[in-house]
Amino acid sequence: MENVVIIGSGPAGLTAAIYTARAALSPILFEGSTPGGQLIVSTEVENFPGVPETIHGAVLIQDIKLQAEKFGTGFIAEDVQKIEKKDGCFEITAPSGIIKTKAVIAATGATARRLNIPSEEKFYGRGVSGCATCDGAFFRDKNVVVVGGGNTAMEDAHFLTRFAKKVTIVHRRDYLRASSAEIEKIKNNPKVEWLIPYVIEEILGDGTVTGAILKNNETGEQMQIACDGIFVAIGHDPQTSLFEGLAELDDQKFIITKAKSTETKTPGLFAAGDVMDPVYKQAVTAAGTGCMAALDAQKYIEETFDIA
Ligand SMILES: Cc1cc2nc3c(=O)[nH]c(=O)nc-3n(C[C@H](O)[C@H](O)[C@H](O)COP(=O)(O)OP(=O)(O)OC[C@H]3O[C@@H](n4cnc5c(N)ncnc54)[C@H](O)[C@@H]3O)c2cc1C
Repeated sequence: MENVVIIGSGPAGLTAAIYTARAALSPILFEGSTPGGQLIVSTEVENFPGVPETIHGAVLIQDIKLQAEKFGTGFIAEDVQKIEKKDGCFEITAPSGIIKTKAVIAATGATARRLNIPSEEKFYGRGVSGCATCDGAFFRDKNVVVVGGGNTAMEDAHFLTRFAKKVTIVHRRDYLRASSAEIEKIKNNPKVEWLIPYVIEEILGDGTVTGAILKNNETGEQMQIACDGIFVAIGHDPQTSLFEGLAELDDQKFIITKAKSTETKTPGLFAAGDVMDPVYKQAVTAAGTGCMAALDAQKYIEETFDIA
């Protein structure tokens, strides 16, 4: 019987591992099919406290993993396939077998939705981003595109006008899902241009993004625009299918935790990071809730299983 199994190897899972390992709980961490999580595609991270030099996300996450390893975390490079609660404990099913554990920390993250065009993959992290808060400051005096028509797209566009010379909003429909309050904030901003109803067919560049080919969704007519960056703001998919039934999910399928805690509706199951955070979605907030989940799990194990 393990004390705690952590599912996910992004900043949330690894931070939970550091804390539970230092609390002598010998955590087991499943890394999943994206070891390191979303940060591994971030070529430049400048906002993680304590790291003053610009750092590649993969290097930052490797350092956090080393810290978790140093204190005795056991790593399993597999995806968890199933979780069941039986007789007050959890059974975790993975390709290599079943592990029993007293507590589980869900840190499976949320995937930023993509345009799913081949050229997007080529430029992801090299001018194409899923995170304006993270990467906006790299586009000072540049021309950027924001793709999307919801509140996030409007917020991202508004935020990007602080840095960029021009922000072009590209949206596939002739109406916006965003609230009128969010649209109002940018409607009359001279830096903002609108291309509606357009979709991006291809991203152009040579090492970094230099432009895009767009198609008018009504007429089918194509046009080419010049730009230095493309922010895809079409939503996130939280990785919560494993936890359906065990955790309450919101309408976007993020895990709902109790106020000021990482507890879910199932005692012993805790959630940390982007999987329970529809709002902030940052490495440092993921690490913060990872720490909270570790402390909550430690308290739960002590109180429920009577260990010192
Ligand atoms: C392009 C980009 C740039 C970014 N830049 C920054 C930045 O500069 N600064 C910043 O603070 N934030 C940045 N972010 C946001 C940041 O990466 C996320 O907020 C953070 O990674 C969330 O951490 P997490 O641990 O919650 O989840 P994730 O990093 O998403 O990790 C989820 C983990 O869960 C694992 N997993 C999923 N399903 C399973 C399963 N069934 N079994 C086992 N494991 C599973 C995956 O393999 C992965 O390891 C950026 C994001 C993107 C997309």
